[in-house]
Amino acid sequence: MGTDSDREKNTQLLGLINILGDDYTNIYLVNRKTQQIEIYRYRNQDVDVEKELYKEKPYESAMTSYIENKVVPEDRRKMSMETNLDAVCEHLTRVSQFTVHYRVRRNGEIQFYYMKCARIGDADDFESIVFAFANEDIDVRRNELSELLKPGGTASKRKVLIVEDNELNREILSSVLSENFEVLMAEDGEEGLKLLAEHYRDLSVILLDICMPVCDGFEFLKRSQSDPLLASVPVIVTTGSNQPDVEIQCLDLGASDFIAKPYNSRVVIGRINSVIKLKESAQTLTAVEHDELTGLYTRQAFFYHAKTLIRLKPEENFHLIVADVRDFKQINSSYGEKVGDQMLCYLGRAFNKNHKLGLIARYGSDQFVCMTYGNIDLSPANVKGSLAKIAADAPVPNVRVKCGIYENIDKSQPISVLCDRGFLALKSIRDNYECNVAYYTREMNEKQNQNRVLENRFEEAIRDREFVVYFQAKYDVKTDKIVGAESLVRWINKDGSMVMPGDFIPLYERDGLIVRLDEYVFREVCRFQRDTMERGEELLPVSVNLSRASIHHSGVVERYVEIVKEYGIPPSCVPIELTETATLYNEQIRKFTDMLVNEGFRLHMDDFGSGYSSLITLNELPFTTLKIDKSLIDYIEQDKGKKVVRQVINLAHGLDMDVIAEGVETLGQVKLLRKMECDNIQGFYYARPQPKDVYIEMLRKKQ
Ligand code: C2E
Ligand code: MG
Ligand code: MG
Repeated sequence: MGTDSDREKNTQLLGLINILGDDYTNIYLVNRKTQQIEIYRYRNQDVDVEKELYKEKPYESAMTSYIENKVVPEDRRKMSMETNLDAVCEHLTRVSQFTVHYRVRRNGEIQFYYMKCARIGDADDFESIVFAFANEDIDVRRNELSELLKPGGTASKRKVLIVEDNELNREILSSVLSENFEVLMAEDGEEGLKLLAEHYRDLSVILLDICMPVCDGFEFLKRSQSDPLLASVPVIVTTGSNQPDVEIQCLDLGASDFIAKPYNSRVVIGRINSVIKLKESAQTLTAVEHDELTGLYTRQAFFYHAKTLIRLKPEENFHLIVADVRDFKQINSSYGEKVGDQMLCYLGRAFNKNHKLGLIARYGSDQFVCMTYGNIDLSPANVKGSLAKIAADAPVPNVRVKCGIYENIDKSQPISVLCDRGFLALKSIRDNYECNVAYYTREMNEKQNQNRVLENRFEEAIRDREFVVYFQAKYDVKTDKIVGAESLVRWINKDGSMVMPGDFIPLYERDGLIVRLDEYVFREVCRFQRDTMERGEELLPVSVNLSRASIHHSGVVERYVEIVKEYGIPPSCVPIELTETATLYNEQIRKFTDMLVNEGFRLHMDDFGSGYSSLITLNELPFTTLKIDKSLIDYIEQDKGKKVVRQVINLAHGLDMDVIAEGVETLGQVKLLRKMECDNIQGFYYARPQPKDVYIEMLRKKQ
C-alpha cells in the first residue's frame, strides 16, 4: 500500500469522524482481517474495550462482551447477528454505511442506543470499518435544547412528511411529532410523492410506511430516489418489527434509517433528529471545503461560511468583490495548463493578501469571490491600483483581472444572489478594455429584470406580431439609385413604443431565442418579396441577418430553403448577412456556407472591420458581398482610415466581391467612397431604416 492511498484513507477517516460530529461517544476503527481495534474516541468508559484489545479476535471479544453485559436481553440476538463481522463486511459492500439500533440497560434504566458502521475505502477493497456509538436519548435532549436556543422558536420548526395509510398510526406519529416539528401527512405513496415534489426544499425528513395499498414504500423509494432533488430529503422507513430483509432492501433503495412499529415516541424523535443532523452536517462538510488547487474555499463552503459570518457580525457592513481573469482560456492554450494553474494559485494568494478580513473562495474556474467587512477602501483608484499591482507581479505578462464590487450588501438576500450581483457588475465591463472595475447598482438589477421581461414576453410578441421588419435602402454609388435593402427588426410594443435590436438581439443570442426571431424575420421578408412579385414590381434583393446561434443550429438551411419554396421566390432575392466574427473560418462554417450557396442564396459578410478580420475567411468562404463596418467608415476622412478602406475595397474586388459601405452619414464620405469605386452605400446619408410602406413608396418614387 503506497503512502498516497494511506493518506487518502486517513483523510477519509478524519472526514467521516468530522461528519459524525460530537454525538458519538465512542468511535473505533476495526481492521477487517486482523480485527485489530484502534480507539478514536472513548468517552463512555463503562464499556471496557481496552481489556479486549490484545485478545486473539479483539473485535469479536469486545462485541460479545458488550452485548452480553450491556444490551437488554430482548435485543441481544438481533444485535449479535447484525454486528457479526462477516455480515457487517458483506453489508458494507452494498452500502457505504448503515445504522443498528438497540437498547442498553444503564444506571438502572433502559436507554436507546445506535451504532453506525461505515467502511473506509471502496466497496470492493476496504480494509477497515468505523464503528461509532451514540446514545439516542442524549440526542433527543440536546436537540431540544438547541431548538430552544434557536431564535425564532417555532417559526424555525423543521418539516416532516408522514406517508402512512393507517389512520391510527398517522395520528400517533403526528401527535408525537407536532410539538417539535411541522407535520405534513399523506395517505399513500402517490399522495406522498406529490407532497414531496411540492415541499422537498424545506422538508427535513420523510417517515415512510412500507405496506400501503396505492404505491407502497418500495415504489415510493424507487421513484423518489431516482430524482436527485427529491432524494436529498432523507427517508426513515417504518416497518413491522423483525423484518430484517425489508430493512436491508429499504437501505439498499436509499432509505437512511428505519423504525419498527409499534412506535416509541422517544425512538421516533431520536432517530428523526439524528438523521436530520447527519444530513445537515453532511451537507456542509461533504461539499469539500477547500479548492484543491488554490486552497481557497469552494463555492459551497463560501455560501455556508458567508452566511454564518454575516449572522455573527450583525453590526458590520459587508462588501462583496468578485474577480475574473479575462481570456483565461488563452493563457491555458498559450502557456499550457501548468502555467494556468500557477496563475490561479498566484491570484488566490494575492487576493488573500489584499483582503485579510473576510472570506475568499474560488467561485468558478477563473473566478474568485471575496466577502469582506470593516473599514476598507474600495474606491476605484485604490482597487485599480491593487489590480495593476496584481497584474504586474503575475507569472504571465499582460493578464487582465477585472473586478465587480457590490458595496454594503443587502444582508437579507441569499449569498448566491449577492454573488450574482457582483458578477452583474463585472459583466457590464466585460468587453471594455479601458475599465477593470465596476460597481453594482440598482439600475443593473433593473436592467437584468427588464431582460427577463424581454425574454418572458418573447412568445407573446411573436404571436401578436410585435416584431416588425424595417427596411434600410442600399444605394448604387454611381447612379444614386436604390439597389435593394437590408431588413432590420424592431419591437413595437402595444403602446407604440419601439425597442431597438441592440436591446434584445444580444440577449436572444445568449439564450437561443434568436434562432426563432431570425426565422420569423426571414418569413416576413419572403412574404414581402412575394407581395412585390405579385404586384408586378421590380424584385430588388432584401438581405436578412442570420445570427451566430442560427448558424450553429441544425437544420437551418433546410428550413430556409423550404420557406423560400413556400413563398415561391428565388433565393437570390433574400441574401443572407453573416457577421465577420460569426464566420471565423472552420469546417462547420464552410459546410454551412457552401450549402446556402448551393441552394442559390447569396452571402454578405457583415460588419467587416469591426472584429477579427480574417483573410482566410474571405478567401475560403463563398461570400458574394463585403459590408464595410461603420467603424471603418467613421475614419475614412483621415489619412490612415482612407488607406484602410481603399485597401479593403481593392481586396474585395480582387476576390470578386461587391462592396457595400455601412453607416455612411456625410456627403464627404460618399464622395470618397465613389472615388474608391465602392459599389453600394447603406447609411443615414441616403436613408434610415423605414417601415415597409415608406420603403415601398421610396421604391415607387425611384429615389
Ligand atoms: P447590422 O446588421 O450591421 O445593421 C446595420 C445597423 O447599422 C442598423 O442598426 C442600422 O440602423 C445602422 N445604421 C445604418 N446606417 C447607419 C448610419 O448611417 N449611422 C448609424 N449611426 N447607424 C446606421 P439597427 O437596426 O439598430 O441594428 C443593429 C444590429 O442588430 C444589426 O446590425 C444587426 O446585427 C442586428 N439585427 C437587426 N435586425 C436583426 C435580425 O432580424 N436578426 C439578427 N440576427 N440581427 C439583427
Ligand atoms: Mg446586417
Ligand atoms: Mg453591419
